[in-house]
Amino acid sequence: MSPWSLSNFPSAKFNNFAGPRPSAWLALARLCQRALPQSCALCAAPCGSLLVCAACCAGLPRIASACPLCALPAPGAAVCGACLARPPPFAAAFAAFAYAFPLDRMLQAFKYGGRLSHADFFAEALSASVAQRPVGTPWPDAVVALPLARERQRARGFDQAAEIARRVARITGVTMMAGLHRTRDTPAQAALPWKERARNVRGAFAAEPSLGGRRIAIVDDVMTTGATLASAAGAVLLAGGVGVEAWAVARTLPPAQLL
Ligand SMILES: [Zn+2]
Ligand SMILES: [Zn+2]
Repeated sequence: MSPWSLSNFPSAKFNNFAGPRPSAWLALARLCQRALPQSCALCAAPCGSLLVCAACCAGLPRIASACPLCALPAPGAAVCGACLARPPPFAAAFAAFAYAFPLDRMLQAFKYGGRLSHADFFAEALSASVAQRPVGTPWPDAVVALPLARERQRARGFDQAAEIARRVARITGVTMMAGLHRTRDTPAQAALPWKERARNVRGAFAAEPSLGGRRIAIVDDVMTTGATLASAAGAVLLAGGVGVEAWAVARTLPPAQLL
């Protein structure tokens, strides 16, 4: 069984895998087949065991060639100019999708509509994305969820990043750890202009010493400007983390890069 068969991740050790790599489409098609029988989550067409029908699945927005440090589109998947000029605190960043229609609607249904059934789909897509790391790139020692502000978790009833992180840990075989906390509740980033987001979340996180000495992947549902994940990564590094990866289900593209 190929390790790219998403329902059968044998372990997190893909580094030495030298076999043929199926296309992103094939990987996506496989994960679509993992859901329970239902109608398509996007167009409601009957689709047997698929979460979304084949046509919708093929149309989900993906970033074919991404900068390894910020997950934004970059020619040849090289480090982009912005990251060369101002390196982010991430050793690597991965996003399964671009945050664009109709994936944005699916994430909103998950976050605000309580559609927990989508969490498996997102986790499998993210796990497939992080498995496509360059040969020789070490896997993280642990996965942590980006902590949601307490107020928002109370209002929503569940923590979407933790739901995804738990599933990703199970699929990839990377241990899930606690130890990353908010030091204060910040105004929702979505309510702020992009320029103010970095200031809003600066110093908003603290990491426990238990994360020290480890390479940590921080999981979030959407990576928008990256400011929140960067602030959390800074806290992990301050606690002695030896490297931080940003793992997001979807990456928001700057206006100039909209698909
Ligand atoms: Zn459909
Ligand atoms: Zn970049």
